[in-house]
Formats: sequence, structure tokens, C-alpha cells
Amino acid sequence: MRFVADSMLGRLARWLRILGYDTVYFPHIEDRLILRIAREEDRILLTRDRGLVKVRGLKRYLLLRENDPFKQLKEVITALRLTPYRGSDRFGIPSLVRCPVCNALLRRIPKEEAEGHVPEYVYNTVREFKRCPGCGRFYWKGTHPERAQRKLTEVLSDC
Ligand SMILES: [Zn+2]
Repeated sequence: MRFVADSMLGRLARWLRILGYDTVYFPHIEDRLILRIAREEDRILLTRDRGLVKVRGLKRYLLLRENDPFKQLKEVITALRLTPYRGSDRFGIPSLVRCPVCNALLRRIPKEEAEGHVPEYVYNTVREFKRCPGCGRFYWKGTHPERAQRKLTEVLSDC
């Protein structure tokens, strides 16, 4: 299941990517372009804009009611019956497969490649690193702040 999120839903898009879902999002994009992406790439349009979904021929969309990104995430998961992977790590969060910032699939890299690009204590304590081929960011387990992870776990366990 692939998504395109409208320009108001940046934080939701990020969380969907963290859960591994292919989600296109641009902070500044015209409505007609969003609609074109939805149609041409066969993506489900996520939006809070009633006007946007009234367009003729738009078949797959989800009109969100909530304002809070976590509640929106819950809406998406519930409405579309998604089953995000529930892993066994400390927070039940799947390891990242997709870049939360730009949506590209991450590549696992040899540890040495991360040297000098991540904080030294991280380099010394973490074994596995990934890098985004799109924006060049480095990722490792524990990249997300604990608070955000707990919140996400809460949402997932509640769905
Ligand atoms: Zn990226």
C-alpha cells in the first residue's frame, strides 16, 4: 500500500515512513500535482481537505478527521487495516527500512563508512548502520528519541 500525503501532513508522512510505508510528501506542492501523483503512481491520497477529494475520478483516498499526527496515524492504520510489523525490540518498533525524511529505501553499510559521520559514542557502541541513498543521512538503532518511540508504541498497541 502506497501513499501520497497532502502538504499539511508532513509529520504523518514521517511516521508512515518510519513504519516502512512508501509515502510521498512535499511541503510545497500544488493540489493538482498531488492528484496527479495519486493517479499516476496509484497511491492512496491522505488529506484533511474535503475539497481535494471531490475531484472527479479520484478513487483511492482517505479523508482524515484528526489534527494530531499520532491520531492521524491511528486513523490510517485503523481505516485501511494496516498491520505494521510489531518487532521485538525494546519499543516494538520495526528497524528503519525507509528514510523518514525523503522516503528512499535505506542501505545497510559497513560500519567503517559511518566513521566521522555519526557521534563518536554512537560509532563506538552501535554495530549496524544504514545510510539513505537519497539524502545521505546515517541511521542506526536508537536514532529516534525515546519519547517519540514510546508514543508510537502506544498508538500501535491501541489499534
Ligand atoms: Zn533520505
